[in-house]
Amino acid sequence: FALVVDGASVTEGLAVADRVVAEINAPVEAGGQTCWVTASVGVRLSKADDTSADVLLRDADTAMYGAKSVGRSGVRIYEATMRSKALLQIRQGDELRGALARGEFLLHYQPIIDLATSRLTAVEALLRWRHPTRGLVSAGRFVPLAEDIGLIVALDRWVLASAVSQLREWKDTGGHAAALRVHVNCSPITFRTPGFAAGVLEVVSGCDVPADDVVLEITERQMIGEDPQTLQALQSLRSAGMGVAIDDFGTGCASLGYVRQDLVTLVKLDRTLVTRIDTDERQRGIAAALLSVAQAFGVDAVGEGVETCGEARVLQALGCSYGQGFLWGEPLDAAAAPGADRSFRTLARDGSGSSPRL
Ligand code: C2E
Ligand code: CA
Ligand code: CA
Repeated sequence: FALVVDGASVTEGLAVADRVVAEINAPVEAGGQTCWVTASVGVRLSKADDTSADVLLRDADTAMYGAKSVGRSGVRIYEATMRSKALLQIRQGDELRGALARGEFLLHYQPIIDLATSRLTAVEALLRWRHPTRGLVSAGRFVPLAEDIGLIVALDRWVLASAVSQLREWKDTGGHAAALRVHVNCSPITFRTPGFAAGVLEVVSGCDVPADDVVLEITERQMIGEDPQTLQALQSLRSAGMGVAIDDFGTGCASLGYVRQDLVTLVKLDRTLVTRIDTDERQRGIAAALLSVAQAFGVDAVGEGVETCGEARVLQALGCSYGQGFLWGEPLDAAAAPGADRSFRTLARDGSGSSPRL
């Protein structure tokens, strides 16, 4: 909807927008249920030299998307930087889509170590973009945009297929690698797509990999609420034996429902809670509490972002089974030179590589 408030001052215009939002926010009774509707409003203040209605509408629309991106209900006034940001997003979105078609994505793998034996048990696949001019770009830099433009579903599908077929290859080399598991990150947007679980199971069985050697990671902040589609997907995956991990455990507060319903096999204690766990008492207290919650539910834990032996030792003492972090290795290309001391292949083959013993 568009509203024209002719001759109004800024304050009057904003007051109208607030009134509209408040009216729309009022609960509605429908079919015996209470429903809440939200509204986001973008405001474009017109100046004397604004002649085109098209420009006013376009800018109000941009501001409305700005309002949407910060919350479900709200009002924002258009600023010139919003338009340049929106244009940049469109350009980068096009570039990202093209990157998938041009095969510019690759996976790096980071070891996950059994703290009791210091041996490699699994690897996490982390997405990278080999950008033609910017070099290797980390997932954190483009995954949010991929989610915004809906490309994440195709990307996650590509990651799963690549990681599972890589796992097959490693398993075929025998030795310690035969028991290796792979962790794959999955956006909640992907999780909610119809037929998601069936698609995942098809890929996994197509590569002849046991379902319990694959762990899907979903971040805690994104598990908010109990979305029926997510719940159903989790149930199908779990009944096929697939692992499910809560990523960034301890940064949200909404996932215990899933843990309680036996839909989760692992929690990954967030890096912000692991760092300085050996020197900071408060930090240790929080980690201990979260790990005992996981233990109470009978769920294993991985400490993320472990950078020192001290952190690893404290994690182990607190009952955490696994660790992941720069201490054992940064995410590495699967094809890292075979035989090189710090290469992933060494780690995969004999299970220890140059891994420090605790
Ligand atoms: P995450 O799943 O929590 O991954 C861990 C991130 O921490 C990775 O960043 C990794 O490189 C970094 N990291 C690992 N160990 C350490 C350490 O000891 N110290 C420090 N400072 N950092 C460490 P990355 O690769 O940039 O990934 C960022 C996030 O992007 C991931 O967080 C994950 O949520 C998301 N992501 C990565 N790959 C995918 C993917 O294939 N699909 C989806 N949907 N999301 C992905
Ligand atoms: Ca992860
Ligand atoms: Ca994490």
